[in-house]
Amino acid sequence: MNTLLTTALDLTARGWHVFPLRPGTKRPALHGEAACPRTGPCAEGHRKWEQRATTDPDRIRAAWAKAPFNIGVATGPSGLVVVDLDVPKEESDAPCGAATFKALCERAGHPVPTTYRVRTASGGQHLYFTAPDGARLSNTAGTVAASVDTRAWGGYVVAAGSTTPAGPYEALSGPETAVLPTWLHNVMQPAAKRSQAPCTAVAGQKRRYADVALSSETRNVAAAPVGEREATLFRAARALGRFVAWGDLPRHVVEQALQEGGEAAGLTTSECRSTLRSALNWSINHNQTRRAAA
Ligand SMILES: [Zn+2]
Repeated sequence: MNTLLTTALDLTARGWHVFPLRPGTKRPALHGEAACPRTGPCAEGHRKWEQRATTDPDRIRAAWAKAPFNIGVATGPSGLVVVDLDVPKEESDAPCGAATFKALCERAGHPVPTTYRVRTASGGQHLYFTAPDGARLSNTAGTVAASVDTRAWGGYVVAAGSTTPAGPYEALSGPETAVLPTWLHNVMQPAAKRSQAPCTAVAGQKRRYADVALSSETRNVAAAPVGEREATLFRAARALGRFVAWGDLPRHVVEQALQEGGEAAGLTTSECRSTLRSALNWSINHNQTRRAAA
């Protein structure tokens, strides 16, 4: 039996709506509106891939009998939100989507969720989530962060099992797909929306996470043995600087806590001050766009 057909049927068994992509490509095999013959499925008006994507095994068998189509999963009708973590072009020194996404999750005080995950042909990743009840989410492109896009209504993803000239799409995990956590749903709101309508629960969570980091780094500094005191202080200031850059901790609070920690460890006031200043400046400069992972 044709592997792509088997895969397409497996996906529909999860309740996902699939449609054929041209063999070896990421483009829909179904005609576009401009080329619509107004017959068959379009007899009453053009229906695009999102409307024609199906879970009907007979239609899927008929379609994949014609050619070894790649598989598109229409995320909207499938009730999915897929986080698309891209890899920047080789010449670019921009961080990859996976690192950016990890930093976003960390900032919200959570690890990257465990869920069905696919490696894309270009080396990026797709993280699949079930859309929360009642939410009708749309695609986003670059509004969450650079190289972090989302696919929901109006979007589709190329399913594992498909292949393009750049390489195969491969599942990296079992099929269990997590419900999109509320905190992640909030993280994924465009930055502008976030500042207009801050979610107090998430803001509180971020602050708690920052506070925990502050006290644990301060304890480390105060307990650092002779010979490692300055390096420990330096690392702590760099680690906490991103919370200052993100607005989760005021700079003077971090400076005061680490200054006290450093002095408790036996460093002089001026040694602490100069180490702190340069490490914090570095970290704040490098975390302006919330891109850097830890
Ligand atoms: Zn049509």
